Amino acid sequence: MALLSIVLPSYNEEQNIANTTKVLSEMLEVAEIEYELIFVSDGSQDGTFSEIQKVAADNARIHGAEFSRNFGKESAIFAGLEMASGDAVVVMDCDLQHPPESVLEMWELWQEGAQVVEGVKRNRGKEKLGYKLSAGLFYKIMSKLIKMDMSASSDFKLLDRKVVEVLLILPERNTFFRALSFWTGFRQEKVYYEVQERQFGESKWSFFSLMKYAITNVTSFSTLPLQMVTVMGMVSILLSLILYVQTIIRYLMGMAVEGFTTVILLILIVGGLLMLSLGVIGHYIARIYEEVKARPKYIISKVTGNNRDREER
Ligand code: UDP
Ligand code: MG
Repeated sequence: MALLSIVLPSYNEEQNIANTTKVLSEMLEVAEIEYELIFVSDGSQDGTFSEIQKVAADNARIHGAEFSRNFGKESAIFAGLEMASGDAVVVMDCDLQHPPESVLEMWELWQEGAQVVEGVKRNRGKEKLGYKLSAGLFYKIMSKLIKMDMSASSDFKLLDRKVVEVLLILPERNTFFRALSFWTGFRQEKVYYEVQERQFGESKWSFFSLMKYAITNVTSFSTLPLQMVTVMGMVSILLSLILYVQTIIRYLMGMAVEGFTTVILLILIVGGLLMLSLGVIGHYIARIYEEVKARPKYIISKVTGNNRDREER
């Protein structure tokens, strides 16, 4: 029988683990699906990992790992994919904002031959206005850059074993899970879902972490910002040519532009553009630097029960 793995990245979610486990395992047992749950605690500072150990001790289908520090959700997802042994793997948030019933829909589509099943948000749930706007803008830009509609996509998806294997051999450090599953190009289906209210605790995203996420993902998926530097340079060369001709003509006609005002303005504008361009280039160099160091995406400090822990004792 086919095995379904569910990967649940969890960061400071001690209040959610027991409830999420109960909801998912009851649902999958009723549906008679062979399953395993894989919780990856992303360096949580609260009791998340001991909660995971508790549920794992009661149910042999539950596995978990703890990171040595917070590596971010992307890393937690990839660690989960690495640990999963299912024929199909679902990645979902452990706060039940992704409705569990959709997992059953995904499973059915997979059985009918889909290799990637994208969870697509029908609404964005209750989010702060600022968050909504910045997320909206980010997805607009992203969709343009990578030429697919990202505005409703999420990390909630089902991947066939083949797709998981492809993602796991990608050599890059900075991954963008949400877009990579599109990029692999396997046969895709969609499942629409309503974003649920968070069960317990709070969202981990601040405005700044969201901005950082946005910039990192745009630059890890597209070189368009770099090309924009070139375009900006060409436009300013063009404009300066016009100004050059105009200035010379006025000089020859004995009416040269007066004073420092023009000089100051030009220096400020050109200086600003130069620094901005250097910043963009610098950002890409930083990304290359990170990739070249080739450090692991995450470090696992503990795993649950059944395997290593017990042998050590
Ligand atoms: N998460 C994580 N590492 C982090 C931040 C979040 O593994 O550094 C997990 C978190 O535990 C949750 C999921 O990612 O399962 C989504 O996070 P959250 O609910 O805070 O975000 P939101 O739903 O508000 O977008
Ligand atoms: Mg959430």
